[in-house]
Amino acid sequence: MKVDYIIVGLGLAGLAFVEELLAANKTFLVFEDDSQTSSLVAGGVYNPVILKRFTPVWNAKQQLEVALPFYKRLETKFNSKFDKKFETKKVFKSIEDQNNWFEAADKPLLSDYLDPEIESKKIKGIIADFGFGNVKETGRVDTKKLVEIYRVYLKLAHKIRFEKFEHQQINFGVDSIEYKNITANRIVFCEGYGMKENPFFNQLPLNEAKGELITIYAPELKIDFLLKSTLFVFPLGDNYYKVGATFNWKDKTSKPSKEGRLELIEKLKKVITIPYKIIDQTAGVRPTVKDRRPLVGVHPTYSNLAILNGLGTRGVMIAPTVAKQLFHHLEKGEELDPVTDIQRFE
Ligand SMILES: Cc1cc2nc3c(=O)[nH]c(=O)nc-3n(C[C@H](O)[C@H](O)[C@H](O)COP(=O)(O)OP(=O)(O)OC[C@H]3O[C@@H](n4cnc5c(N)ncnc54)[C@H](O)[C@@H]3O)c2cc1C
Repeated sequence: MKVDYIIVGLGLAGLAFVEELLAANKTFLVFEDDSQTSSLVAGGVYNPVILKRFTPVWNAKQQLEVALPFYKRLETKFNSKFDKKFETKKVFKSIEDQNNWFEAADKPLLSDYLDPEIESKKIKGIIADFGFGNVKETGRVDTKKLVEIYRVYLKLAHKIRFEKFEHQQINFGVDSIEYKNITANRIVFCEGYGMKENPFFNQLPLNEAKGELITIYAPELKIDFLLKSTLFVFPLGDNYYKVGATFNWKDKTSKPSKEGRLELIEKLKKVITIPYKIIDQTAGVRPTVKDRRPLVGVHPTYSNLAILNGLGTRGVMIAPTVAKQLFHHLEKGEELDPVTDIQRFE
């Protein structure tokens, strides 16, 4: 078998890169071993503002300009709904919090997104003594649904193998690579936290940031927006809500834990007062980098090995942009953004 590309991993990064390959009529084969769950469990929220600090997300406007049409095209391609837009209501903790909001809402990169008015209307079941601030242009991509549909689509096209990619089986030819019975021009590794087992790239500084979420059933909670305090609560429909997420820098597993569940219950107590039932709990490891920028680029010695990783806490917004940039770099020799290029760690 001969292909232009082997792709290792079909989460958001792999999927976004495969879309580039399809658009350019490239041949490829994907390997996926279900070892990581990040794209399957992600909240899937996109928000151009970091609400903890009231600062803009890096390149938010540019990323959303690429990402929103990207998910729209996938909705058309699969005749399915993935992107649900809703307003985000940030719960203020104090007067100081409100003042910081006013200040931020005046800033050039934030004024498009932050409504300067403070909403003081009471909402049944929600604790918000200092009111809410409304954030525009936010929403949620159902990443689980998208990735699952995409894997079936690739399976039907015989373009995915559900097995572990074994790095030690790569043989380097003059211009190509042999992997088992496959000859490929390039391999792009989109392995998420699985990169730790990749001997070609595991010296890059990828950190684990395990996250956990719960799904609750709360028929008395009537909200159609994303509620943001120390955690987020967003509607899934039919009285179900997703609540998350935790951050754990020690546990490297994708298993839901009792500690994670208790942390979410404790935080939820400070936000809602109405009864609910926990229906589900999920966990995954976010592939994060200390400088909070993705890992994109080509191996310094093996030029036909490339990486697309480090999407951190914002895979939904970043993946389509960095996949495009890597593809144009590999196929057209366009420069990578030095801020994301893995050469910054050499
Ligand atoms: C709890 C939680 C909440 C989150 N919430 C949000 C959010 O609200 N918004 C947002 O934008 N982001 C969120 N994220 C982050 C987001 O999930 C990630 O940025 C993104 O999914 C990473 O995608 P990826 O494709 O790089 O990695 P992954 O999704 O981990 O995909 C990598 C794939 O590679 C496969 N793989 C690895 N090694 C091999 C191998 N050797 N052979 C074959 N296959 C292999 C894995 O099985 C996996 O499917 C959240 C993450 C978590 C854990």
